[in-house]
Amino acid sequence: MKTQEIINLQREYFCSNKTKSVKFRIEQLKSFRKILKDNESLLFDAIDKDFGKSQYETYITELSLVYHEINLAIKKVKKWSRSKYIVTNLANFPGKSRVVSEPLGNTLVIGAWNYPYQLTLIPAISALAAGNTIVIKPSELSKHTSAAMAKLINENFDHGLLYVQEGGVKETTELLEQRFDKIFFTGSTAVGRIVMQAAANHLTPITLELGGKSPAFVLPDANLKMTAKRIAWGKFLNAGQTCVAPDYVLVHTDIKEKLLKELKNQVKIIHGSDPKGKETYVRIINKRHFARLNDLIHRDKIYCGGETDEENLYISPTILDNISFDDKVMEDEIFGPILPVIEFNNLDEIINKVRTRPNPLALYVFTKTSKIKKRLIREVSFGGGAINDTVLHLSNSRLPFGGKGFSGTGNYHGKAGFETFSHKKSILYKALWFEPFLKYAPYNKFKLKLLKWIIE
Ligand code: NAD
Repeated sequence: MKTQEIINLQREYFCSNKTKSVKFRIEQLKSFRKILKDNESLLFDAIDKDFGKSQYETYITELSLVYHEINLAIKKVKKWSRSKYIVTNLANFPGKSRVVSEPLGNTLVIGAWNYPYQLTLIPAISALAAGNTIVIKPSELSKHTSAAMAKLINENFDHGLLYVQEGGVKETTELLEQRFDKIFFTGSTAVGRIVMQAAANHLTPITLELGGKSPAFVLPDANLKMTAKRIAWGKFLNAGQTCVAPDYVLVHTDIKEKLLKELKNQVKIIHGSDPKGKETYVRIINKRHFARLNDLIHRDKIYCGGETDEENLYISPTILDNISFDDKVMEDEIFGPILPVIEFNNLDEIINKVRTRPNPLALYVFTKTSKIKKRLIREVSFGGGAINDTVLHLSNSRLPFGGKGFSGTGNYHGKAGFETFSHKKSILYKALWFEPFLKYAPYNKFKLKLLKWIIE
């Protein structure tokens, strides 16, 4: 369908006021859930074709999160959308104040390829729950999952309410020229800038879910076995193509050797000695990303892994030792199965170093010391994170998820997602039986004195 046609349809649909009914939204969310459930095999098949991801991993990292969001929205949308009474100030006596939640209108959700379902469907669920119309633009890099979503959604929903527009840069640029009431973008910082500039032309509010280099701090008192297990899981999940994956490890010199050994051991336990033959280990999305990652493997610094196979887009879980902040692998977000390990002696210095870099999307701390946990949370500015774990903070729908500065702006999941796609309309209800004479001219000294006495 042509971009302009779909925009016109959705504007008309929103003006019909159908989406203002919470009952209608719940019905749509229920049919959304049914469509996904009835077509799981299509969804599993598509993601396997895109980057060889197993059903199990697809379920735990994608579909289970999507179902959880739908179920939560169905259960809570009535409560979230109820208008709320607020205390009224003296100047407005006699009156009542209320905040009414209203949908923003026509929205655009642009997704990334690495978790193609959850990154497009979860914001769409929040937007639907909040009563908006939605155009979803999945990534063209994961073309099978993009086609699967287009088929399921476009065949089952009124296009005026929900529509998947497939395509790449050209189609996204066309969409960005239109006036939307909200743009929700997940992707790279570079494209985030383009989206922000396009949104500025129409003063459209945006949420940017971007990436960044997320550090994992490991302190001498950490439980090393558990630390290594959780870092290895979070890093090599989806072959490192995860926005909140620990990008690099900062480990205290005293325990570096022990941690490296444990990491190597845990990678073997999780992915086996030959991950290539296993359906539990994901492939790199395309040749361009393969070449980029291959270039980041400092051959003389490989601690373990480092095997590559371009034809099969395979890079084994790779750990790099003796890395410094000046190495190439420390320039940009890695977004692949390469884990650089940097050692430190002085916590103050390393915290300051991290603080001089762009805000990470996530930060992880492995320690038993409360003081250090609190210090890192207070002193480093980042999107969100975990203490003694990686990645899983994003699985709790009740925690708002998002970045800060370079890693994004705004947040979503659960109630936060509903609010991201809603406008808070403040209304004052005034009674007619009283009008304070202090409001009106002529002004005089007596009135000023009385006013000050009341206010102060
Ligand atoms: P990307 O920025 O290349 O693409 C994202 C979307 O933008 C795609 O739909 C694509 O079609 C579109 N796009 C690409 N170039 C464009 C252009 N010039 N003009 C207009 N639209 C354009 O990102 P990606 O490679 O799909 O995803 C990887 C990045 O996304 C990483 O940086 C990762 O950290 C980030 N990410 C962030 C989150 C999060 O929740 N914060 C989640 C997943 C991925």
